[in-house]
Amino acid sequence: MHDIWNPWHGCRKVAEGCLNCYMYVLDRQRGMDGSNIFRTQNFYYPLQRNRDGSFKIKSGELIRVCMTSDFFLPEADPWRAEAFSLMAQRPDVIFYLLTKRARRMLKCLPREYPADFPNLSFNVSAENNEAARRRLPYLLELPCAHKGVMCAPLTNAA
Ligand code: SF4
Repeated sequence: MHDIWNPWHGCRKVAEGCLNCYMYVLDRQRGMDGSNIFRTQNFYYPLQRNRDGSFKIKSGELIRVCMTSDFFLPEADPWRAEAFSLMAQRPDVIFYLLTKRARRMLKCLPREYPADFPNLSFNVSAENNEAARRRLPYLLELPCAHKGVMCAPLTNAA
């Protein structure tokens, strides 16, 4: 099962691929402003438990992180270290991180984390060739075991 964890919400448009950001659309429908960035009440979701004591996020699941924001958003710098700490406490779960801010990934990595970040999957989105050329080198330099590219939303640019 693929679940979602949104530790923070809201974002700033930084690329062509942000033009029709669905988060902005959904927020507008709810009378909200997608550029309003805040830490959510679900921040501690990875450690939340059911009444029987089991974790809400089951062992072995893949969780998509920050689907209504960007994990490497500068405005989230004060919250990211704690988010990494929560993920480190769930080595049995795969956390799928996706960003358009590839150049920020390396400097935002925590100093304290198991080698190769075994339960984290670092991914960049690439809406066209130019975005891929710009972002993939930053992905390649990461000292992480799991990396990927999401080619979406595709645009017509070269
Ligand atoms: S980076 Fe993602 S969440 Fe942020 S504005 Fe762009 S498409 Fe939306």
